[in-house]
Amino acid sequence: MKSATTGPAGITQLSLADTAAALRAKKFSSVELLKAYQQRRAQLEPKLGAFLSTQDDLALDQAAQVDTRISKGEQLPALAGIPVAVKDNFNVQGTETTAGSKILKGYVSAYDATAIKKLREVGAVIVGKTNLDEFAMGSSTENSAFKPTKNPWDITRVPGGSSGGSAAAVSGDLCAAALGSDTGGSVRQPASFTNTVGLKPTYGRISRYGLLALASSLDVVGTLTKTVEDAAILLEQLAGPDPLDATCHNERAPLYSSLLGSGESVKGRTIGLPKEYFSQGLDTAVGEQVRAAAEQLKKQGAKIVEVSLPHSKYALPTYYILLPSEASANLARYDGIRYGASTTRSNDNRAQDLLEVYSQSRAQGFGPEPIRRIMLGTYALSSGYYDAYYRQAQKVRTLVRQDFLEAFKNVDLLLTPTTPTTAFRLGEKKQEPLAMYLSDVMTVAINVAGVPALTLPCGFVDNLPVGMQLVGPDYNEELLFKVGHAYQQETDWHTRRPAL
Ligand code: GLN
Repeated sequence: MKSATTGPAGITQLSLADTAAALRAKKFSSVELLKAYQQRRAQLEPKLGAFLSTQDDLALDQAAQVDTRISKGEQLPALAGIPVAVKDNFNVQGTETTAGSKILKGYVSAYDATAIKKLREVGAVIVGKTNLDEFAMGSSTENSAFKPTKNPWDITRVPGGSSGGSAAAVSGDLCAAALGSDTGGSVRQPASFTNTVGLKPTYGRISRYGLLALASSLDVVGTLTKTVEDAAILLEQLAGPDPLDATCHNERAPLYSSLLGSGESVKGRTIGLPKEYFSQGLDTAVGEQVRAAAEQLKKQGAKIVEVSLPHSKYALPTYYILLPSEASANLARYDGIRYGASTTRSNDNRAQDLLEVYSQSRAQGFGPEPIRRIMLGTYALSSGYYDAYYRQAQKVRTLVRQDFLEAFKNVDLLLTPTTPTTAFRLGEKKQEPLAMYLSDVMTVAINVAGVPALTLPCGFVDNLPVGMQLVGPDYNEELLFKVGHAYQQETDWHTRRPAL
């Protein structure tokens, strides 16, 4: 399965790196490539439900332009002709951007998010917008107001969430790569459930401008790809300063992809296994796969040690104070006046005054999960409770981050499972918010701390993918890529494909 086959099914399996090289070598044209992906999507989308909208004609125009440039012998930009899908919480000019919510039904973006602008500048072809849990709140994509997305490895199971549409699209070879957002695990958990690579960069590494805000101090733009090398290629294009996002890091990012592949990637590195991540709640078989990956890295020259992140158990409760608080403030803008759906526009039940417009639009527009979190967050921020909840959570946040800073004094990076179990069944946790929240127990601390993490395939349990999470110090995505890429050179988990 490692070498690409030819023909439409074959070219959709190529990594982004191999696709870019093949386009340059004229093995196929950009239009042929796009049509192969569109054909595959037409065949599989009814089964998977990965997309909320697609831009076929526009994409074909863009692909044709790339082919013209190739025929003229022009120098091609990095992502020329690469079909990329985008989670439907990014503003993409001229497309409907719903964030999976009825309240934004019919809202058409007037501008491109910075990440989208950067993708376009280097020639990527945006093929469509992918399904997600409403406003990125969830871990299964079942909270989408429009439809659930299915896991390509077993369509009775969830693809994870909230970037489940992006994960299913990459995993099912419906696009070459996809953008997601990760506030508490929304790129990594679905990547882990679908045998794809998920990158959550350091907070501030990629501009958030134009990404619909969930919790502004935790949100990052992330990527879902078929290989670690592809994640490196995407990050080097997406990273960098942006005057439109004051929290964005000022320095330019390194050319990560040119730094991969040296023999010294793993040798001599100390990798810590945090004992709190290998304890209670972790499925035994999943734990075994991750430990086997640690053994593999040891074979490649790493030193494996046990470490402790003593405040781990507070990360999830801290997150579920911080996230609803920030979300309740961010979601206040969806008031039935400025964006999308409004009761003033429906004929029956016309609101009598402005307050009624607000309350009716929000009550009808938001689904149960956003409403639950808006209420929790408003409570945690209200006078008299602020100190006990929000301020307290901010203090604990510092302790959670401190754990990581302490650990990185002794180890180069950390290795954990990405999720405690493999993909669960559709409907299994839908009625139980707490059980759903627990599926993020291994990912949220990373957002609370702000550090970067990368999840990559490391095995299977009952034919369902298992992911491992590499966590590094602030702004050291380079190290994650080097170690992850070296691991993928020696293993073939990431080359396995679901039987669709
Ligand atoms: N599943 C987590 C939540 O429901 C994470 C969401 C995210 O990262 N956007 O909040």
